Order: sequence, then structure tokens, then C-alpha cells
Amino acid sequence: MKKHGTDSTICHALTVDVEDYFQVSGFENRVLRKQWDQYESRVEANTDRLLSSFDLHEVRGTFFVLGWVAERYPALVKRIAKAGHEIASHGYWHRLVYDISEEEFARDLVDSKDAIHNACGVETTAYRAPSFSIVEKSLWALDILIEHGFTQDSSIFPISGHDRYGIADAKREIHVIERRSGSIEEFPPSLAHVMGVKVPVGGGYFRLLPQALTSMAIAKIENERRPAMFYIHPWEVDPQQPRVDDIGRMNRFRHYVGLASTQSKLSRLISNHKFGTVADSIRSHWGDGRKPQLAPDSNTVAV
Ligand SMILES: [Zn+2]
Repeated sequence: MKKHGTDSTICHALTVDVEDYFQVSGFENRVLRKQWDQYESRVEANTDRLLSSFDLHEVRGTFFVLGWVAERYPALVKRIAKAGHEIASHGYWHRLVYDISEEEFARDLVDSKDAIHNACGVETTAYRAPSFSIVEKSLWALDILIEHGFTQDSSIFPISGHDRYGIADAKREIHVIERRSGSIEEFPPSLAHVMGVKVPVGGGYFRLLPQALTSMAIAKIENERRPAMFYIHPWEVDPQQPRVDDIGRMNRFRHYVGLASTQSKLSRLISNHKFGTVADSIRSHWGDGRKPQLAPDSNTVAV
């Protein structure tokens, strides 16, 4: 299939955060974790829908799987891996990193790693925090990731004005972060300004905005000769999902806007651009020999 774009060497990252509709951060005060087992689960069917679509378009992506999901639906995780996608961690309990202690974070990380390994035999080395919750006050999480063998992270959103996440002046491109415990490659979620509109590439913004705006944002990032990071959740292609009430107007809007059209918008998006896994995308960014050595230089930031 022909892919549009200015630079055919750049491969954008297609990523899925594998969690169920009732596990999102916006519902966490309404749906207690101990109640998760009581909700109708739709994560298998919804993830299978994404898998079929990716298969149809012959594209592979990276699936950040919640440990809780991996433990209960190991066959699903096996199917994702068998289809050639990259398996990564989204934590175990979907706890916001800045809401828990370093010890709790380490435990949650190990539990997710173990659950995923038990499900499909993959040793995860890439991580995305629930709701991009590695922010200024929770950067310590990077040390714990490094200590547990993680080499890639996609949790630091370079955005301002969001109530739950973001480091406004964080780097927008793939970069290496050096910490006291070692180094880790950060591939931040993407955003671009298109026609005066701030367009983050994925999630609720993808459902809310016309697909053309997301495509224009990706093209703009590609014009800067770097790959974009796109993210989606299985529940975002499920307009029939059971409604959770008493969640407040803002959460209701964020969760339910645009569900009916997201599957078709996604098909158009992955037809229009060249996508791959996070590993494919990082390789396309560094190219041959462009990856910086871990001595301080312009691509390296010490935090
Ligand atoms: Zn999540």
C-alpha cells in the first residue's frame, strides 16, 4: 500500500495501551481496583479488533500491556506477540506514578514484567506509565526502570496545561536520558501545532479532532525529519462499551467522545503513513551511526 509522506525512511510508532474501559485514570475514583473483576471485560475482543485492522494493513506496532490484563488473558498477549508485534509494559495496576512510592512503583513494575513474561515469554524492556504520569516530581521512576532492565520509555509528555500529565519544556524528539543508575531512551508522545491548533497525536485528541488534523501533525513532524508517536487504547474502538455513570462531565466527555468513528479514522491513518513498532521507529530515527554515544552532547539531557 502506498504511504504518503515526505521521507520514506521515517517510520512512525504505532502504539496501543492494552487496558479495559473501566481501568482508565479518569474513572479511578469511581471504579475501585478491587471491583475490576466484577466488570464485563471487553479488552480481548477490542484488542482483537485492532489486531485484525493492523493485520489487514500489514503494519506492526508496540502493545504496552497492563499486567492485570496479561495475568487474566494470557492467550491475548500470546496472540499479540505471535502476530509479530512488540510487547511492552504499562504497569500492573494502572497507578499514576506520582501517586505511589518508589517501592510501590518497583513492585508494580516487577509484577507487570512477570505477568507478561508468564503470558508470552517476552522479557519487556519498554515501558509507558499510566496516563503519562512520569512528570517533574516522578522522574525518579526512570532510575527504577533502568535498574529493572528497561531501555526505552514513552511516558514523558512534552505538553503544558493538562491536569494529569506533562513536562512543558521536555524534549519532543527521541533522546537519551542519563540518570545516576544508567541511561534510557525516551520516545515522547508527539504533538504538533497545525493551523493554530495544538494537536497531540493519539488518544482522546484523535477521537475528538478530524483525522486530517492528526495526519497533518504527523506530516509536520516528519518534515522535521523525526518519527511521530501515535497511541490508542482498545476501548477507543468500542462504541458499545457499557457506560460508567457518576464520573463527572469532563471525564464523560474525554472517554466517550468520538468512539463510533475511531476505527475508521484509524484505518485511514495507518493507510496514510508508514508505521511500525517503537523499536522500528527508533531505528529509523537514529539511522546508521546517528545514535549519540552516552557522553553528554546535544542529544543527551541530564536530569
Ligand atoms: Zn493506560
